[in-house]
Amino acid sequence: MIFGIGLLVFGIYQYKNKKNMSINKEAVLQSTITCPECGHKKEETMPTNACQYFYDCENCKQVLKPIGEDCCVYCSYGTVPCPPIQLDQSCC
Ligand SMILES: [Zn+2]
Repeated sequence: MIFGIGLLVFGIYQYKNKKNMSINKEAVLQSTITCPECGHKKEETMPTNACQYFYDCENCKQVLKPIGEDCCVYCSYGTVPCPPIQLDQSCC
């Protein structure tokens, strides 16, 4: 019985450790940008050290800029926001 409880506590401990590790995960760097002009989608790799403020759509040649308060085109048009936002850091 005591052994059973010990195992259970150990299991919870392991589970919490795993959870902490997932919080420290690295940011996703692939984001698919959808052009608001023509709907063209393109998967791009985001830079981790800088924000991309301008993005040229390869289909309609429109130069995209972030919407409103967004720091970069990935936050506005991408499926995944930029790495600093994902990691809860202030953006450039
Ligand atoms: Zn376009």
